[in-house]
Amino acid sequence: MAIVSSITNHSSLPNDKGEERFVGSSLLNEEIKSSKQDSLRPKSFEEFIGQSELKKVLEISVKAALSRGEALDHLMLYGPPGLGKTTMAMVIAEELGVKVRVTSAPALERPRDIVGLLINMQPRELIFVDEIHRLNRISQELLYPAMEDRRLDLTVGKGTSSRMRSIEIPPFTLVGATTKPASLSAPMRDRFGISQRLDFYNYLELENIIKRSANLINLLITEEASHQLARRSRGTPRIANRLIRRVRDFAEVYSSSNKIDVKIVDDALDLYRVDQRGLDATDRSYLGLLINDYGGGPVGIETLAAALGEDSTTLETVVEPYLMQIGFLQRTSRGRVVTSGAEKHYLLTSPNNIDK
Ligand code: ADP
Repeated sequence: MAIVSSITNHSSLPNDKGEERFVGSSLLNEEIKSSKQDSLRPKSFEEFIGQSELKKVLEISVKAALSRGEALDHLMLYGPPGLGKTTMAMVIAEELGVKVRVTSAPALERPRDIVGLLINMQPRELIFVDEIHRLNRISQELLYPAMEDRRLDLTVGKGTSSRMRSIEIPPFTLVGATTKPASLSAPMRDRFGISQRLDFYNYLELENIIKRSANLINLLITEEASHQLARRSRGTPRIANRLIRRVRDFAEVYSSSNKIDVKIVDDALDLYRVDQRGLDATDRSYLGLLINDYGGGPVGIETLAAALGEDSTTLETVVEPYLMQIGFLQRTSRGRVVTSGAEKHYLLTSPNNIDK
């Protein structure tokens, strides 16, 4: 399978000092360049760990498309960043034996970007569009007839002499990925035959991802250390892989052992200020504000955003999903509320209570 890429990725949000967020689930700037050749990406359904429901559905669709010799239905993948949407598109292309073109909505701003992408395709190819909810109206309207009738409607000429020309294009599969399915326009949403959500991974799945990645980079790691890393990976394979690489760097400098153990994991992640549940300074400021200044809530998102100097959408899409996932936060109609588990964790891990 060949991969053609013109992705312009959004990196993990920098904090107020301009530093990138180490446990943010989007790509860090240093990872953007290497993401296309990511050696840790699973290449088949078999290698892809977790997301069993999604895999089942897609395996059936891929087999059916192959047996009919047709293009796979257009597919929408949604869920938080770093869970494997791009990876899954590449796996599907590999399983179908076709090429995948990887791009993102910000790279498709002008009609000619879409035309360029669609006009040179081979039959049954995959086009992966990340952040598809950000496509502008003109680009979306060009895509509708392409997705439905394999037709590109182009306006040729200017002013009174302009006319519409339709060009037939080969059958193809659009794989759209989004972290915000609710922001997708209804006509766009309706054009996807399959729509699937990716969920956060459980500890066991993350442990298996960590063991697989460690093996691929020739790193020896104890069972307990893999387990510790899994607990701190925020349910996200991208973060798991990032933590492994940082722990490996740390061990190369500070350890004489050739095997990663729990002590190395703890020391390395203390240095990077990632706590036992994978929370970092941003999460802690968020929880601290709710607990110390608002008695645990409820508080409106706009109030929290203003107090933290963050944008409310960032809090909603980057900070809150994981806190809700681990049962630390509830979104209620009256505002955000922390749980007793969050308060306990916050107090136990606050600097005054850590005896190191
Ligand atoms: P997304 O497109 O959802 O932001 P990616 O597909 O880029 O996420 O995945 C992030 C990284 O996590 C990839 O580089 C890949 O190596 C790893 N990864 C994702 N899903 C899995 C999985 N199911 N098994 C193993 N590794 C995975």
